Amino acid sequence: MAAKAVKTSPEVALGFLEEAESWQLLSDQFPSKVGGRPAWLRQVDLPTVSELQCEKCKLPTVSLLQVYAPVTEYDRCFHRTLFVFCCKTPACYTRNDNKCFKVFRCQLPRKNDFYPFDPPSDEKPDHAVDEHQVLKSGLKLCRLCGCLGQKACSRCHSVTYCSKEHQTIDWKHRHKKECSNEASQTSEELNSFLFPEWELVTEPEELPATDEEHHESHSLDQESTACLNNDLEDSELESMAFHETQDAKVFQKFKKRIANDPQQVLRYCKGGSPLWVSAEHVPRDEEVPECPCGAKRLFEFQIMPQLLNHLKVDRTDASIDWGTVAIYTCADSCDQDTKYSAEFIWKQDFSGDQTV
Ligand SMILES: [Zn+2]
Ligand SMILES: [Zn+2]
Ligand SMILES: [Zn+2]
Ligand SMILES: [Zn+2]
Repeated sequence: MAAKAVKTSPEVALGFLEEAESWQLLSDQFPSKVGGRPAWLRQVDLPTVSELQCEKCKLPTVSLLQVYAPVTEYDRCFHRTLFVFCCKTPACYTRNDNKCFKVFRCQLPRKNDFYPFDPPSDEKPDHAVDEHQVLKSGLKLCRLCGCLGQKACSRCHSVTYCSKEHQTIDWKHRHKKECSNEASQTSEELNSFLFPEWELVTEPEELPATDEEHHESHSLDQESTACLNNDLEDSELESMAFHETQDAKVFQKFKKRIANDPQQVLRYCKGGSPLWVSAEHVPRDEEVPECPCGAKRLFEFQIMPQLLNHLKVDRTDASIDWGTVAIYTCADSCDQDTKYSAEFIWKQDFSGDQTV
């Protein structure tokens, strides 16, 4: 289990996709993973249907990934997972707009109501827990997306959903036959609905020793970004020319850095700074809202564009897309009513014709 936890040192941990057996990605294994259903940490007080709604099309967002990232200095964060959800409507992915993403932080002390004190065994359990429709706490889940699902099929009452939309999809593709007893209930997934499921494993980033960037500190990066933002307020023509060069520089730096590990889908660096794909739409400090507890939010990890290649989304047409998605979390990792706490996401798109 410890091996799956991402490091909280200032070094960057890179996330890569690996295949895993389905039991390894269930809640009691504390997985980091991409796609599939959420492996909920806390088994009660899940995010509500409205908290998970896309702010643009109002449809439910679905699980994109989750990262298991305990904070060793706080007992309350012995277990800690960040859950990222995104909308499946391509039209919602407008430029540099974060409204189709949701992120939640959940944490538990070592001694808690849901999991044993000792880490889980690395061996496959004799009987796999089916947490697909009901959590151990008795909470009912949406059969399609795995989020809170309190609405039962009014005919058979044996399956539940988060929303009318998900019930309709399931009805068309699967439940119509089951409900009228033409087929027995199957736990098979609707292949095309959820994102493909992968384990997310992390390794420290190793850069070539000769790479000068390796010795640059994060604060230098922040300084150059700050300068840039100030300079943009200069006369328009001047700043546009300046901006184009800056933008090319930022993008070159991005490409050079990821070239060392082209398969990376995630960069974790709590308290560090993101590797931006562009000089455009970089958040100023005041654009990252404070946590409701009053603490600042700090950068924790970013999702890379490489992940899109594994999500089976069409990149040639209007589609689910991003340059990078940066996640900012409460610096104190506070306990707000010990619920799933909403955190902050910043989406940055490539500018102009840049692609990776
Ligand atoms: Zn949407
Ligand atoms: Zn659902
Ligand atoms: Zn039914
Ligand atoms: Zn807080």
